[in-house]
Amino acid sequence: MCESYIVKCQCGSNTAEIFFGKMLLDEKSVSRVFCPQCSEGYEEIEPQRVWDNGWVLELNLDVIRAHSSTFGMPAESVSAEWVFDSGYVTWVGITPDDTIRRNKERESIQQLAKTDVLAYMKAMKEWGIGREKRFSEEGWRKMIR
Ligand SMILES: [Zn+2]
Repeated sequence: MCESYIVKCQCGSNTAEIFFGKMLLDEKSVSRVFCPQCSEGYEEIEPQRVWDNGWVLELNLDVIRAHSSTFGMPAESVSAEWVFDSGYVTWVGITPDDTIRRNKERESIQQLAKTDVLAYMKAMKEWGIGREKRFSEEGWRKMIR
């Protein structure tokens, strides 16, 4: 139940990897995902949508509000933003496609290990620090909080 759930966005060009924290909610609580290319036109602030750098995670609040007693709050004050920021339904990594991107980036550095171990270790370290810095600069929700 803690395994991740991969959802294609509405235009189909990107995927988001979703994590359900605290073993409470599952994929029934996810309605739609929009990537920055297909989120246009959905700008209005709605309680069922959480925005993160152009990505939108749209949740099924009816399903989620059925759990409101577990959250210890009135059903009507449960919003997608709250659910996301509390980690009940959130990205697996910092960003929706963090795992895919991380593996790709790491793979390219690992090529270096075959020829120059010291350079490889240095590159790995710089990569780790650079990633965090980049996420902060890009302003992802998980980095802001
Ligand atoms: Zn899309």
